[in-house]
Amino acid sequence: MLMGPGPSDVPPSILEAMAQPTVGHLDPAFIEVMDAIKDLLRYAFQTDNRLTMPVSGPGTVGMETCIANLVEPGDTVVVVENGVFGRRMKAMATRCGAEVVYVEEPWGRAIRPHVLAETLEQHPEASVVAFVHAETSTGALSDAETLVDLAHQHGCLAIVDAVTSLGGVPVRVDAWDIDAIYTGSQKCLSCTPGLSPISLSERAVNHIRNRTTPVQSWFMDLTLVMEYWDDQNGRSYHHTAPINALYGLHEALRRLHEEGLEHAWARHRQHHTALKAGLAALGLAYIVPEGERIPQLNAVTVPDGIDEAAVRHALLHEHQLEIGAGLGDMAGDIWRIGLMGHSCRAENVRTCVRAIGHALQAQGLDVDPGAAVASAEGTLASQQAATA
Ligand SMILES: *Cc1c(COP(=O)(O)O)cnc(C)c1O
Repeated sequence: MLMGPGPSDVPPSILEAMAQPTVGHLDPAFIEVMDAIKDLLRYAFQTDNRLTMPVSGPGTVGMETCIANLVEPGDTVVVVENGVFGRRMKAMATRCGAEVVYVEEPWGRAIRPHVLAETLEQHPEASVVAFVHAETSTGALSDAETLVDLAHQHGCLAIVDAVTSLGGVPVRVDAWDIDAIYTGSQKCLSCTPGLSPISLSERAVNHIRNRTTPVQSWFMDLTLVMEYWDDQNGRSYHHTAPINALYGLHEALRRLHEEGLEHAWARHRQHHTALKAGLAALGLAYIVPEGERIPQLNAVTVPDGIDEAAVRHALLHEHQLEIGAGLGDMAGDIWRIGLMGHSCRAENVRTCVRAIGHALQAQGLDVDPGAAVASAEGTLASQQAATA
């Protein structure tokens, strides 16, 4: 059971889709699959953006693709960090030759819009703003709509990391007017790792067309990638697409479409509420304040005197359950429990609460795993009654 910060459990239908025979990357049947993926991605991202496609590579490649295409040497880029992933954006923008204005916000909290507003007032030369919507290192959700609006008020394009948010909480690319967004296949989409869907607005595409220098990465240069992914001038080879991985993504997106985004968001919220009740009964406290949390990543403080690595070891070896450790500045202090995509199920919530309860008990903590499971169970039952 995968209940860490991703990858999440992959449903059998996705693995079966990936086991279908490999065809050529320009086979007309495969071109149809590519077109279907682009349409399903437009639904998942809630956008009509023409440039909507999966990049061949993990979420980090989606991040680097957006930055490499929108940033030119000498540009001023504002990166707001409130966790591990913002740091990467800074490093990437710096390698693209940008002057990075780096805003460090407290970890475990949402980004404060007034801090971005003040930074943009001090840096009228800025052309791009980048931030993470749902920080997987802490489980904090920022108000992407407001932050993007601030970027536009100051003449900047906005790059949004939706690797953990897409499919778990609302992400509305067109309504929020996001310029460039990327996600990952292995979090709330519950596909295997290795693909990074992206979507770029018309404004962002024009910005790329008007660059004065070529994109420093040949592989990530979207003007070249689109010769393969977009049919305007006929398809031609750019790189050999990961055919079978894309079959899997197609099935993952088909499943999300079948469930419906609103239902997927509600499912994440409901199971998060049940997990929270179980964790509270075990005395585990969230690091992110209520109201700033994402349901799909539950970061809780390791109780005093508990060997956090020994607990994860016990979960893995006695319960076949993986949860995440703390990243970066929070390593050793927290656990990160994922409820992403197919991992976001009643069975997983029960197993997780019971297993953590037993592992804490084994280390001498006075907790009642049975009562904690009952508490999670009670929450699930009352939610089912409410939606029935
Ligand atoms: C996981 C994650 C990434 C990186 O994705 P990879 O597939 O590991 O490269 C980037 N941003 C956020 C917020 C993530 O959670």
